[in-house]
Amino acid sequence: MAVAAADESIAGSSFVHTNTVADRRSRDQPVDTAAGSGSIRHPIVLYVLVNENATDIERYDLIIVGSGSGNSIPEYLADWKIALVERGMFGGTCLNVGCIPSKMFVLPADRAVDARNSEKLGIDTRFNGADWGAIRDRVFGRIDPIADGGRDYRATGTPNVTLIEGTALFVGEKLLDVEGRTITAPNILVAAGARPVTPPIPGLVETGFHTSDSIMRLDDLPERLGIIGGGFIAVEMGHVFSGLGSEVTLFNRSNGLLRDFDREIAERFTAVFGERVDLRLGHVPTRVARRDDGRIAINAGGDVVVVDELLVATGREPNSDLLDVEAAGLECHHHGTVVVDDTMATTVPGIWAIGDVANSYQLKHLANAEASVAFWNIAHPDDIRSQSYKAVPSAVFSNPQVASVGLTEEQAIEAGLTISIGRRDYAGTAYGWALVDETSFAKVIVDTATGLFVGAHIIGPQAATLIQPIIQAMELDTPAAEVARSVFYIHPALTEVVENAILDALVEPDPERVVPPASADDVDPTAPDAGMEPGIVRSARV
Ligand SMILES: Cc1cc2nc3c(=O)[nH]c(=O)nc-3n(C[C@H](O)[C@H](O)[C@H](O)COP(=O)(O)OP(=O)(O)OC[C@H]3O[C@@H](n4cnc5c(N)ncnc54)[C@H](O)[C@@H]3O)c2cc1C
Repeated sequence: MAVAAADESIAGSSFVHTNTVADRRSRDQPVDTAAGSGSIRHPIVLYVLVNENATDIERYDLIIVGSGSGNSIPEYLADWKIALVERGMFGGTCLNVGCIPSKMFVLPADRAVDARNSEKLGIDTRFNGADWGAIRDRVFGRIDPIADGGRDYRATGTPNVTLIEGTALFVGEKLLDVEGRTITAPNILVAAGARPVTPPIPGLVETGFHTSDSIMRLDDLPERLGIIGGGFIAVEMGHVFSGLGSEVTLFNRSNGLLRDFDREIAERFTAVFGERVDLRLGHVPTRVARRDDGRIAINAGGDVVVVDELLVATGREPNSDLLDVEAAGLECHHHGTVVVDDTMATTVPGIWAIGDVANSYQLKHLANAEASVAFWNIAHPDDIRSQSYKAVPSAVFSNPQVASVGLTEEQAIEAGLTISIGRRDYAGTAYGWALVDETSFAKVIVDTATGLFVGAHIIGPQAATLIQPIIQAMELDTPAAEVARSVFYIHPALTEVVENAILDALVEPDPERVVPPASADDVDPTAPDAGMEPGIVRSARV
């Protein structure tokens, strides 16, 4: 009986596999260090017999692990006995250390950048500095009470919900240990989120560093900030700190920023952002060390850059290992996300997973939508719903702002689609003239076989707002021609950028304007697709 399969059970008892709960919980220390960042995904397991009939096991109808998107418990579960387990700040990442505070910092940074750049508009404004402490206290003075209020509401205001504070750890298929309490339920929702990863850079852990969890709560605005990473958190925080007055140096392994985005957009972003931030691209720092004066020295590409604070933003990893989901028999992808289908069901019946622990998008609107599907399916087994992933949009609230939905140009080509690309610079519209904009543009990708959008990408002011009609059209299968021609676009609003980009994609290619490739002597330059990459039809007005 010492060794058995994880899901094996014997007459009211089940095997709990563990090298003691306390041992496994020690992996949970601290989440920001290399040692604690998910290095152990395949622990050596022993099996201990637990009596499921034991009276000290707390029984619920539903256990939810994680109070981020998992806290959106619908009204129709009001008579379910629910345990909500949370190990950290109530409300999860988005509220406490993610989307919401970061955007509350982005706005003053945007204003500061505008104040510096107003000369082109013919007005004289200056940025005279930021009161970091006042901004920080305003942001968290708004957020912390919401988190505290949410916690109190669950602790005392919802009689059917028991808030259990501590780290949940699977010790059997439907059994969880929370700091010595054993709980069970026929339905379990894993909504445990993700945490920052720590890259294996010599000296980094010993030196100490910030992640997005701590950087927004700094005591003072650093004079010089180093950032390692080139994704959305790195460039949003880079914008915040450089906008508010820090000298920012950003180190990234790739030669560009936002490499998961459409190449043209990523290249434009890197060029524009590089005018404000010292970009050290193509190098991973080889060593980080604390100097005697307290500053941090970063070796990269043969240079040494000295900064006052260091932010590491090299990605996030799912918290599936903290929960030891394998002890419940759940399957994970190689990068640790729990395997789910589009109903949010895991590979173990009755266990569901949503959000950052189950998908790689890392988007709050998706985590919310998945939570709503999972709750519905838990309560309505005869009316199962599915989550659509047809048009999952994302935005980067840096400066410039970026928004994206669907396939990039590169992905569409790789998928073998014949596409038409429409593109419109902000400068090609009346509102763009008002902005005196020279760098922003919208790009839409239409499948010429179906007339439907397969993607859209915008860089520039209000990109995240402007992209909305295309998100709608992609989800609802509205043809691009209808989106451009069947509705009004207010003149002279910025939405005309999107209208014109779509119209561009719908214009027949003009053979006169097609440029043949220099090396292709034998290509007929008047052929509609001459000089184009395979499968792409570019409109004449690009
Ligand atoms: C700096 C930053 C900016 C972001 N900006 C945006 C943005 O602008 N737009 C956007 O869409 N997304 C943004 N995101 C991503 C967004 O925050 C996440 O996608 C979203 O919060 C995920 O929600 P979730 O419910 O899956 O996880 P979370 O909100 O992280 O909730 C998981 C909860 O589970 C708890 N937990 C974990 N393990 C256990 C355990 N074993 N036992 C008990 N409790 C546990 C955690 O403490 C946490 O509270 C941002 C993220 C960051 C870090």
